[in-house]
Amino acid sequence: MRIERVRTHLLEHRLGIAFESASMRFEKRANVLVEIVCDDGTTGWGECLGPARPNAAMVAAYAPLLIGEDPLRTELLWSCLYDAFRDQGQRGLTVTALSGIDVALWDIKGKHFGVSISTLLGGRVRESVRAYATGSFRRDGVDRVEDNAVEVAGHRDAGFHAAKIKIGFGVEEDLRVIRAVREAVGDDIRLMVDANHGYDVMEAVAFGRRAEAYGIDWFEEPVEPEQLGAYRAVRAGQPLPVAGGETWHTRWGHREAIETRAVDIVQPDICGVGGFTEARRVADLSSLHGVRVVPHVWGTAVQIAAALQFMAAMIPSPQRREPLEPILEFDRTDNPFRQAVVTHPVEHDHGVVAIPDGPGLGIEIDRAALTEYRMRNDP
Ligand SMILES: [Mg+2]
Repeated sequence: MRIERVRTHLLEHRLGIAFESASMRFEKRANVLVEIVCDDGTTGWGECLGPARPNAAMVAAYAPLLIGEDPLRTELLWSCLYDAFRDQGQRGLTVTALSGIDVALWDIKGKHFGVSISTLLGGRVRESVRAYATGSFRRDGVDRVEDNAVEVAGHRDAGFHAAKIKIGFGVEEDLRVIRAVREAVGDDIRLMVDANHGYDVMEAVAFGRRAEAYGIDWFEEPVEPEQLGAYRAVRAGQPLPVAGGETWHTRWGHREAIETRAVDIVQPDICGVGGFTEARRVADLSSLHGVRVVPHVWGTAVQIAAALQFMAAMIPSPQRREPLEPILEFDRTDNPFRQAVVTHPVEHDHGVVAIPDGPGLGIEIDRAALTEYRMRNDP
């Protein structure tokens, strides 16, 4: 079996109501899927975290290195692709594009052997995971305090056991949001907060100390991701567990944060950190230092399926205590093609998501949806 073709599919949807985190504004949703076709007809799918067009350009730059290669040699191909741009590409789009390719290669490997990727990763230790609802952004023209409270109450009513709220817009306003959400949902639901690196250390410490009263499970990306000393200061200066990692790429990008315990929870994205090949290495590194792994997810059903395959094979803690079971990040914001790209949506049922057990990622792509949501000017 040899790789015959590599292509990308750019998808886009313009939002009715724009929304923003502390670091990013969304007026449209745009994602890129990677399709790798082999000479025997086997096709693998992947997805790249981050800006769609630049990722697609990087995938195209890698493509000539893949044509004619054996797709089963995932370790070797990962190294060859990484080496190709190592001097200028140790982090960023070079790695997110490589991630989409690696996920597609593992999908091919699973289909070739007729087993799920989680089986290849060491074996399935669970068939479902609890999901937490990600949302509660700041939406244009809407009172954020009331809007977030209503939204999280909706997640609770839909069966979610946990939800994550976007903060980083200012300590006082953020605290008003947390208070309103807690009042709306009581103690029925676990809450996390995500500042998307919108604070500096003093703001993050001030927020964390006062937010403790509202029962917050983790404090995600409190400060800028390059500032690991600032991460450590936040962790030392306030009581909430600190999480981060969605912008750290490869094992090298995670090493210092994990070894110095700058975070309590590390959040590699399978489609950003370097695919399954590299996510496994980050998880191994985390296990050396007692850092918990909760994968980041922000994409279509392809990316959700990748996270699920990884989580299916994560080894439970020896105590098997319920809070240590992995939980899936489940985006609840507006994105009509998120599930449309697959023939069977990877959905939740009362906050629980079944892990597909078919070959590879366990999903099938709906090509009609790729056409329907195709980005303008994507050939
Ligand atoms: Mg985040």
